[in-house]
Amino acid sequence: MTKDLIDGLNAFKHYHYESSSELMSSLVEDGQDPRYFIVSCIDSRCNPGTIFRAKPGSFFAHKAMGAIVRPYQQGTALAAALQFAINYNNVKKVIVLGHTQCGAVKALAENLEDPEITSFVNVAKHGLARAQACCSDHEEVLARTEKEVILESTKNLKEYPSVKAALAEGKIEVLPWLFDIKTGDLFQYDEDKEDFVMISTPTPKEDSRQSE
Ligand SMILES: [Zn+2]
Repeated sequence: MTKDLIDGLNAFKHYHYESSSELMSSLVEDGQDPRYFIVSCIDSRCNPGTIFRAKPGSFFAHKAMGAIVRPYQQGTALAAALQFAINYNNVKKVIVLGHTQCGAVKALAENLEDPEITSFVNVAKHGLARAQACCSDHEEVLARTEKEVILESTKNLKEYPSVKAALAEGKIEVLPWLFDIKTGDLFQYDEDKEDFVMISTPTPKEDSRQSE
């Protein structure tokens, strides 16, 4: 049943350990030096290593349902990971990567009757309230909530001591990103426009692809 995983590992091993690639050997010898820290959802369709086609050593990763960042508390998995990545490594960009059609956002918006899940996602209820205040259609509420949850998580993230101190010193940037799993496009929040704007290259239209 795990054959697909083992096959993938064998291909990875062939490329990085049995070919002329020296990336893994240099990461082993010299250690890692990632520039990014990515907080993403547990969703299997938007794994950052896959969608960014990232090489080993590219980024630190933290996963949580909905890429939700709860208000700072000492001793949590995220607080320790950020502290390690920022204070003991050379991370320059901390990214909150949410995505469309997010199950965590749906659970929040539809008030799923499962306290194990809702007690975690409910921390983003202010984002849901803002979405409900401006949208009436259910699909619009979900889409707006996805954005609001990313912004709320970003706000919470900026209060983590390691992030707060590094921001004050101008050492890092915090980027709110939204991945559209339907189109493959990536959006970043633009404070001037007060909305997410596309930062991926737009997909060429069908007829322009044919004419090339
Ligand atoms: Zn999700």
